[in-house]
Amino acid sequence: MADPIVSDEIKKIIAECNEAKKFAYCPYSNFRVGAALLTTDGQIITGCNIENASYTLGVCAERCAIFKAVSEGHTSFKAIAVASDVKDEFISPCGACRQVMFEFGGKDMKVYLTKPDHSFRVTSNKELLPDGFDSSVLDMVRTKVLP
Ligand SMILES: [Zn+2]
Repeated sequence: MADPIVSDEIKKIIAECNEAKKFAYCPYSNFRVGAALLTTDGQIITGCNIENASYTLGVCAERCAIFKAVSEGHTSFKAIAVASDVKDEFISPCGACRQVMFEFGGKDMKVYLTKPDHSFRVTSNKELLPDGFDSSVLDMVRTKVLP
């Protein structure tokens, strides 16, 4: 099979997620992660992991990017790309990030898992979080369970 055609937008978010790693604040793990989110209107919002001496308060790059975007008025996304310094494997989002990605990207948002050389594997929210929890579940509760 031929290589998939990669749009300029996708090449750009793959490059940007790798760039975003340089802002990672990770003195405890030394595990840099960058993310770049592509909005439906073509803007790119980046994020990095941000750790804390109180370990559980850290945030991943993916959620950092999404929360930045939402706080700036963007709530609809086409794709996200994620990068680390791991050369041999594609990094994959944690469960918490998958849930937040599902909230704002829906099941069809594309997720580009990348390596430092910009090679990637593409997947989707649906593949990463099958049967994901979303507002439709809350709607069912409101209409079918509550009086
Ligand atoms: Zn995460």
